[in-house]
Amino acid sequence: SPTIGVFALQGDVREHLRLLTEIGVTAIGVRRTSELAQCDGLVIPGGESTTMAKLARTFELFEPLQERIRGGMPTFGTCAGMIMLADRIEDGAHDQETLGGLDITVRRNAFGRQVHSFEGDLDFDGFDAPVHAVFIRAPWVEQLGPGVEALATIQSGEAAGRIVAVRAGHLMATSFHPEVDADDRVHRYFVDLVRQS
Ligand code: GLN
Repeated sequence: SPTIGVFALQGDVREHLRLLTEIGVTAIGVRRTSELAQCDGLVIPGGESTTMAKLARTFELFEPLQERIRGGMPTFGTCAGMIMLADRIEDGAHDQETLGGLDITVRRNAFGRQVHSFEGDLDFDGFDAPVHAVFIRAPWVEQLGPGVEALATIQSGEAAGRIVAVRAGHLMATSFHPEVDADDRVHRYFVDLVRQS
């Protein structure tokens, strides 16, 4: 079975490790290059994207991560992890770095300051039943490059039409936190992507 790493310098690492382990893959925390080297795929969790980028620099993981991502390692970013995979940030913190790889522009904290979190049901490409999506100070995707596919879009309310899940080849990202639920379909979708690659 494949080994899937979870970027573990910052963020909600444990929930991803638990869910991946339940699915039956080998899941390991990634804090150093020796751990990254063992991975067939990587999850970048939710957390705080500016802190993640700085810590990745400090622990000399930034460039090795970029190399693996560019080299085709399947990678799944959730929330802050989506921001980390985005090529461009709208209204990003001054000089905020991302690993990039996904040809998307994201807007951080897009759902408004007062709306720290909300949840709702979301149709997800290829799933029979909607996903219960939890958003916590979430980004949305402002713009998609060619070759990037939207997997889920907010269906109602003020944010209707906003794209909150994307995929391009070996990379995927969600604005929401699929790891907080018992629903493991989004993680299975990613594990399939790892198995296929
Ligand atoms: N607002 C956070 C950021 O910009 C992301 C929030 C999250 O991951 N729950 O990094």
